Amino acid sequence: MTCKCSQQIEVSQDKMEEECGVFGIYAPNNGTDVANLTYLGLHALQHRGQESAGICVNNHGEFNLHKDMGLVTNIFDEDKLEALKGHAAVGHVRYSTTGSSMMANAQPLLTNSIKGDLAIAHNGNLVDGAEMRKNLESQGSIFHSTLDTEVIAHLVARSFKDDITEGLKHSFQQITGAFSIVAMTEDCLMAARDPQGFRPLSIGKLGDSYIVASETCAFDIIGAEHIRDVKPGELVVIDDEGITSTFYTERKASKFCVFEYIYFSRPDSVIANQNVHLARKDMGRQLAREMDVEADIVVPVPSSGITAALGLAEESGIPYQKGILRNRYVGRTFIQPTQEIRDLKVRIKLNPIEDIIEGQRVILVDDSIVRGTTSQQVIRMVREAGAAEVHLAISSPPVQYSCYYGMDTSRRQELIAAQHDLDGIRDHIGADSLTYLSIEGLLNSLDADCGFCTACFDGDYPIGKGTGKLSFE
Ligand code: SF4
Repeated sequence: MTCKCSQQIEVSQDKMEEECGVFGIYAPNNGTDVANLTYLGLHALQHRGQESAGICVNNHGEFNLHKDMGLVTNIFDEDKLEALKGHAAVGHVRYSTTGSSMMANAQPLLTNSIKGDLAIAHNGNLVDGAEMRKNLESQGSIFHSTLDTEVIAHLVARSFKDDITEGLKHSFQQITGAFSIVAMTEDCLMAARDPQGFRPLSIGKLGDSYIVASETCAFDIIGAEHIRDVKPGELVVIDDEGITSTFYTERKASKFCVFEYIYFSRPDSVIANQNVHLARKDMGRQLAREMDVEADIVVPVPSSGITAALGLAEESGIPYQKGILRNRYVGRTFIQPTQEIRDLKVRIKLNPIEDIIEGQRVILVDDSIVRGTTSQQVIRMVREAGAAEVHLAISSPPVQYSCYYGMDTSRRQELIAAQHDLDGIRDHIGADSLTYLSIEGLLNSLDADCGFCTACFDGDYPIGKGTGKLSFE
């Protein structure tokens, strides 16, 4: 049967998506090619957002911005980067759902007020963003985008503080939410995190230049050294004099997004002094201790389940087998939504190796289940390859609540763990057994020097849900 629908559907993973990645560089040495370094940094951060990207440079007071829809490699070429000369730069990659995907929402945002030029790039979501916007609009502010970043820019412009740095601090004191921000004025580069530090932001050094980025993998690609993370509630200012730090608010309990460790950050990144790959492996080990299943092989769902599967196999003594192959050349493929193709959707990305799977009791490992659609299809595929039993092991707790702090988790009614209990999920996805890592087990596997937000598992929202606007709306 053929579906008459002409609209295209995207072959995407059933995973949470990050909203953004940010990058900034300040180079007192005039010979530093800040545009190319920012381009490479954004390339390393591409997994944090694929809808749009941009770079704004500051050439001793003259700002030049280029941004567009698409991937970093498609937006910038040699000529475009050559035109972006300067001693400092701010870069951004953005993810959004189709509804809010538009050029006006591409970042960095470049604004000009009586206080001077300000380029600003933001990762996160304000829980009071809609309310703040309404208040500002009622007082005459005109918005060009739906970005929370623009709310911050308006607050800076309206602040009674004359100086942009002080205005930025003043604006942070008026907002509630998750924000890791990189901003640039004529005189300096700034980096700041919200008081709970939901989203990551690190500081690096390359020669005389200071760099800030969402993840340390952006330092590795340009050979920079990771110095430290920006602290929750901290504003770091970088200029010709070097780096200075101030806190714009009193210290609060840190609530770093635990999902950065589970799925989102790159495994080669280091956050709060813990390597992400090793953290994921420990989650797999902890999961093995919490599981009570007899099996012949441990097989990861590539690539999201690989590291946890290695840890689970090591701890349980059950052999690790690469029983499913991932087609490395499928990026964001769009296909016609015929029924036949829908059924084959997962096969475009993944293919089980029958010689490994046939007749085996398989522990299939993945890092999370959001809607359950991919898990269901992968389990069916592994059964069709001849598995005797399929036990699904997930290296995080059930995602039962939506995120309001900058991660696209889907709406609550779409989350399978919000709709079914454990047996219901197991039956729905067609597994012989289903084991999730407990929240305690998850936290035990983390050795990071920070506290965590676990709201998508337990509904305990550290700063509430605000107006209830989801981060991806
Ligand atoms: Fe991260 Fe979940 Fe908290 Fe959102 S709700 S910040 S995804 S831990």
